[in-house]
Formats: sequence, C-alpha cells, structure tokens
Amino acid sequence: MPINRRDFLIISSAAVAAVPFRGAAFTQTPAPAAATRFDTIRRNVGYFTGRGGTIGWLVNGDAVVVVDTQYPDTAKICVEGLKQKSGRGIDLLFNTHHHGDHTSGNPIFRPDAKKIIAQTRVPELQKQVAQQAAAQPPTATVTPAPHPTPPVVADSTFDKVWSQEVGDETVTATHYGPGHTGGDAIVRFHRANVVHLGDLLFHDRHPRVDRAAGASIQNWMAIIETIARDMPADTIYIAGHSKTDLPVIVGRKELLRQRDYFDAVLAHVRRGIAEKQSKEQISALQALPGFEDHQASPPVLTLAGVLGVAYDELSVVSQ
Ligand SMILES: [Zn+2]
Repeated sequence: MPINRRDFLIISSAAVAAVPFRGAAFTQTPAPAAATRFDTIRRNVGYFTGRGGTIGWLVNGDAVVVVDTQYPDTAKICVEGLKQKSGRGIDLLFNTHHHGDHTSGNPIFRPDAKKIIAQTRVPELQKQVAQQAAAQPPTATVTPAPHPTPPVVADSTFDKVWSQEVGDETVTATHYGPGHTGGDAIVRFHRANVVHLGDLLFHDRHPRVDRAAGASIQNWMAIIETIARDMPADTIYIAGHSKTDLPVIVGRKELLRQRDYFDAVLAHVRRGIAEKQSKEQISALQALPGFEDHQASPPVLTLAGVLGVAYDELSVVSQ
C-alpha cells in the first residue's frame, strides 16, 4: 500500500520550550525542539507531526479538513503548510478529544477554520482542565497566566456520529463511548480509507487513561474490536502517539495490539485483586509480559499509571 510517501517536506524545526501535557495533574517537563513533518498517506489525506498528538489532514479541490491542533507553536507551522498546499482556509476542524496536546493549537487555527467539530463532552472537559490549570499554584516551571483565557472550543458538537461529503471524499466522525476519555471521536476518510484514531491508539507506548474525564479501559478494548471489525482490512490508521522512531501510521495488526496490551494489563490486575494484593503491590510490576519494550513518558504515561487506573476501574466494577 502506498503509505508514507514523503510529500511536502519538513518545513522547519520549531525550537520550543515544550509542555507535553497541560493541566493540574501533570508535571511540566521541558522537551527538545520539535522537528515537524508533513506526509501524504493515501489519496489526498495525510498527517503532520510536531509536538503533541498527530494532526491528520485532507486537502482536495473543494475543501481542507484538519484533525486535531497540537500546540500553538507547531499549529502555526501546520497552518502555514496547509495554506501553501491548498491556497485556501480550513473548512472543517475536528478535535478527537479535549486533551491539551490535541486542542491547544485551536486558537491558531480558529481564524482560518470555518467550523470546529467535537463530541458533545469535549468543550466541557476542555473548560474543566483550563479551570484546574488556572487554579494550580505556581511552580518553578509553570506560572499561571494572570488572566487565563478560556479555551477555544467546538462550535458544532455531536453525540454519536457526524458525517459530511467534502468534495469527492466522505468524512465521518464517530464516538463509541468512553475510551481514552469520555469524549473520544475517530475521524474516517472513506475513499482514502484512512482513519484518525485520536488517542485511542498509542503505538507501542504506555497510554494515558483519563479516568477523571470518563475513560474506560474495558470499553476502550471493545471500541478497538468494533473498529477493527468494521473497517476494511487495508485501512490505514493514524495513531495519536507512537514510540520514538516508530511510525504514527499503522495497520490493523498494530491497532489490535493496543487491545492485547490492555488484555495483559487487566489480567495482571485481576490476578492481583484475587490474591488480595494492594493497589501499590499490583502497580509495582516492572514490565508487562509481551510489552516489555513499550515506551514510558514519566511521570504520567507509565505502566504503573495504567495499572493503577485499571485497579480503580476493576475495583469499582467488583464492588
Ligand atoms: Zn489524549
């Protein structure tokens, strides 16, 4: 399949004082400068990587569609690149969920985006995170803005499905219930046969499971099975994040590996609960069998973090 053809190239390197995940619960750590890159995947659908969740795009003669917005610095590079390619504004902009690494670039896209679309819960969750961040006491690396600005949120929302013809392409956003958060959507480009999964796929990385925002590991697994069953066998999936040096575009096999990862997580936690182990004992596992090479991003995206959330989820269910 004609994937990964380098299209219009690395535009620049953004030197950035990085903030991987904004929000009260997360320690801010500087990251190295973000190299950015545009690639075409199939037909006129492609992706952009910089800093934060992978951005997906469609550019055809009739419209420009964008999925997610990263952070303001890389969003600027992405908007400029898309303008060079299309010579027009952005007709539809989707947010796959509310997390800052997928929505903090919204203010940059806003002047050029005719419509921002997200699942119903996303605006409320964005506002919640912004309020928590504003209430966070200052630290050495984070100083709250004196007048926190409200986040730029969707002007059009949907519960389950949102679909539109866009020139010769059909674009459909679907919410399958709680997964990575309580408001995830995937965005499908039918004719290109490409699906942006948002953060429902962390390619060989320990994922974030945002239980406070309504996430569910068990339903996340069910969502993956539904997608893998319903999409054609040669669908190309865009992952929100991938292990360093692994591609952000993958096939069904890698998608199903995300389910298998959670299967192994739940098996370990269930065994621990049956043996009356504490959450701390269960979360102390150093490597998950079969997934030893998964990349962690401490302090948040770690095996211990996922095991802790799995423990909370299973404990509630079994009560
Ligand atoms: Zn996320």
